[in-house]
Amino acid sequence: VSAGAEAVLAGLDDEQREAASAVDGPVCILAGAGTGKTRTITHRIAYGVHAGAFVPEQVLAVTFTARAAGELRSRLAALGVGGVQARTFHAAAMRQLRYFAPRVLGGPMPPLVENKLRVVASAATRARLSTDRTSLRDLASEIEWAKTTLATPDDYPARAAAAGREPPFDAATVARVYSSYESAKQRDGMLDFEDLLLVTAYALEEHPDVARQVRGQYRHFVVDEYQDVNPLQQRLLDAWLGGRADVCVVGDPNQTIYSFTGADPDYLLGFADRYPDAAVVKLERDYRSTPQVVGLANKLIGQAPERRSIFRLKLLGQRADGPEPRFLEHPDEPTEAAAVAQACRAMIEAGTPASEIAVLFRINAQSQVYESALADVGVPYVLKGGERFFERPEVREAVVLLRGAAAGGSEPGALVTTVRDVLASTGWVEHRPPAGGAARDRWQSLAALVDLAVDLVAEDPTTDLPRFVAHLAERADAQHAPTVQGVTLASMHAAKGLEWDAVFVVGLVDGVLPIAQSLSRPDAVEEERRLLYVAVTRAREQLTLSWSLTRHPGAKRARPRSRFLDGLVPGSTPTAPGPQRKAKKVKVVLDGEAGELFERLRAWRSSTAQAASVPAYVVFTDATLQAIAEARPTSIRELSGLPGVGARKLE
Ligand code: ATP
Ligand code: MG
Repeated sequence: VSAGAEAVLAGLDDEQREAASAVDGPVCILAGAGTGKTRTITHRIAYGVHAGAFVPEQVLAVTFTARAAGELRSRLAALGVGGVQARTFHAAAMRQLRYFAPRVLGGPMPPLVENKLRVVASAATRARLSTDRTSLRDLASEIEWAKTTLATPDDYPARAAAAGREPPFDAATVARVYSSYESAKQRDGMLDFEDLLLVTAYALEEHPDVARQVRGQYRHFVVDEYQDVNPLQQRLLDAWLGGRADVCVVGDPNQTIYSFTGADPDYLLGFADRYPDAAVVKLERDYRSTPQVVGLANKLIGQAPERRSIFRLKLLGQRADGPEPRFLEHPDEPTEAAAVAQACRAMIEAGTPASEIAVLFRINAQSQVYESALADVGVPYVLKGGERFFERPEVREAVVLLRGAAAGGSEPGALVTTVRDVLASTGWVEHRPPAGGAARDRWQSLAALVDLAVDLVAEDPTTDLPRFVAHLAERADAQHAPTVQGVTLASMHAAKGLEWDAVFVVGLVDGVLPIAQSLSRPDAVEEERRLLYVAVTRAREQLTLSWSLTRHPGAKRARPRSRFLDGLVPGSTPTAPGPQRKAKKVKVVLDGEAGELFERLRAWRSSTAQAASVPAYVVFTDATLQAIAEARPTSIRELSGLPGVGARKLE
């Protein structure tokens, strides 16, 4: 084994090294957040290459976001390895299908459905359904779920019932729309995202020559975040493998956050059963976060209802102590956003790079208020980690212009100036970023292109416009967006696998996290808990969790903070988790104003779906009920002074 290979292993602990040096045969790493799973697979690839066991071009590493794929490539580059294919399932399938389309489909690669909702809408119309935007979106996600779980329209009703789906229309109707959606797509010769994977798997399964070629090209497979693999992706992976077992999967069952769109953590948990000779490695040392953050993450996941023992993975903090996580309550959302923006600014002024800070939220609509708050204090930000960057209209337009300019010849050595000039011709003013919203987003996309040119010239001063344009095309293909410098604004889903020094998890209100649609289903609520686990484990050092009592200043109705914070906020007690939540019979008779309020609170508690209309900020657990029953308060002051009842907003 070469010295280079040994050096690669030196950066790992014993268990990580065991996994990284197992270059033959199946490997599974089952471990919590921040324990070095991604690092281990990166080092395993580098080790395999340096040790001569892998040819880089024959390694296909699959990740769940384009950004994660880019990160993997750059980590490999830092270990002296180039040429490895690191892609999302979709990007990998797209590349292969483009190549094999003539053989498999008898023509060029069909176009992708651009506006899926429109196709669903016309399918719904043909089924004589009256729909609105919400039910259309729900229909689209049912179809997506069916396809990712490999259910045909005929299978759909039975499968949906077994999975406890709650379709927007009765299952037979959804199946009819699904079927009509499929035929419309076929008639127009288009593919949707699921088809990309399906057709690629089909090509490998049914065309021996295609299978031979692909399987000859790719010999070693690595899948990161394997807890979120769905049956469709697994089918493609199996088709790539073609019975071979050179596959390494890593994942954390507690970070399963896509089971409602079809992901199935059983593939991860059942890996060792499927491959009895697999090397199975468990990691518990958390290298990412301070013991304070680790402690909070352990507590949060420890409050989930008892499941298989593997879900009890506990993290052991390795780093030096850091600040305690902060819990901040605000009167309204703009105030919360302003506080976060001020805190970001203070951190940046104190020397934390903006790119080391993230603000994470549950739903994309929450980003707007943070965008304008950050713009107000002059802090640069990046939305959603730059995904789908090359699909943004301003970027497409810029690429077309740059391509045109490249075709016209242009001198070497002046790449950055040329890019600036071309962008300026679109009205882009480099030193004048617009204050916020979409205009700022557009400005930042274009600024990111200039930054990319600067980076490339720094790497290789002879880079000219044609090479820049070729590079853009390559990145667009891999959906690998350039990094923009700024505070990251991202959904919790998009933050998976990433890390920052300081993380603000915002908008932690019941009805937002857990999201309103999940409240009627305990397993859906548990997925929301895992989402919060993903969010908090992104922080290396500083973690701030916040919520606000109302959306708009002066609004009357207060919102309760997220139930997941009960038991995390110092002094509070955990709420009984969903599935085990059985209302204890507690008889309480209270008089006067306290009695009246109590009745309102109790009515609210028995219908959590109405969380948004709670008249007061309360933490309302069985223990609290018990305490109220015992203390029998007669005034609001007494009631609000009881443990577990928030005093703040009780009128
Ligand atoms: P997640 O579940 O969130 O994806 P992960 O298990 O993939 O987390 P990594 O991202 O690989 O974890 O590692 C977390 C951090 O800890 C990274 O900054 C990584 O470089 C660091 N790290 C991991 N292992 C070690 C080690 N043996 N020595 C030093 N640092 C390490
Ligand atoms: Mg990871």
